[in-house]
Amino acid sequence: MANRAGIALGSNLGNRLRHLQHARDMLRNLVPEETTYAQAPIYQSEPVDCPVDSPDFFNTVLEIDFIGTAYELLEHTQGIEFHFGRGIVHQLNAPRIIDLDILYFGDEVIKDTILNIPHLELTSRRFVLQPLADIRPQLILPGDTATISEHLYHLDSNEPPLSMVQSKW
Ligand code: ADP
Ligand code: MG
Repeated sequence: MANRAGIALGSNLGNRLRHLQHARDMLRNLVPEETTYAQAPIYQSEPVDCPVDSPDFFNTVLEIDFIGTAYELLEHTQGIEFHFGRGIVHQLNAPRIIDLDILYFGDEVIKDTILNIPHLELTSRRFVLQPLADIRPQLILPGDTATISEHLYHLDSNEPPLSMVQSKW
């Protein structure tokens, strides 16, 4: 059975748009062509809790209909990160070619050493909530009562505002 999986994509190194497009294509290849798929616009955001002089991030969110388990999806997303040259050991929040975080996976709740689903920072980060609200405003995460658009509306965050880079990509 397929699960709707939300995935956050971020890049702040090199040709960020091309990296996001390339990662998107690799994620799309995980699922049959005819399955439903949603893709948010790309936003630009200043780095949060990152080393000084870190470049701005390009951020977006995709939703795919994934057949398999959340752990299998994590293996795929980590394989894609590795393909882009992201080593196992890296400085905390160092600039990265691609970062893929699983935001939600159907109605599953997972809390263990390798996976937290829904993603712990999902509802506290504008650069995740904004693109997700563009594609799934009415989504209510498992164990929650508020929709994504309500979380975004009530977000109390001192993050600088996002600017949209492009809606079609
Ligand atoms: P961050 O995304 O916080 O910048 P990393 O991308 O380096 O950090 O992720 C570190 C670890 O987070 C991964 O090894 C993975 O096992 C774990 N992790 C826990 N929950 C998730 C999730 N929902 N999606 C992706 N990785 C996750
Ligand atoms: Mg990550």
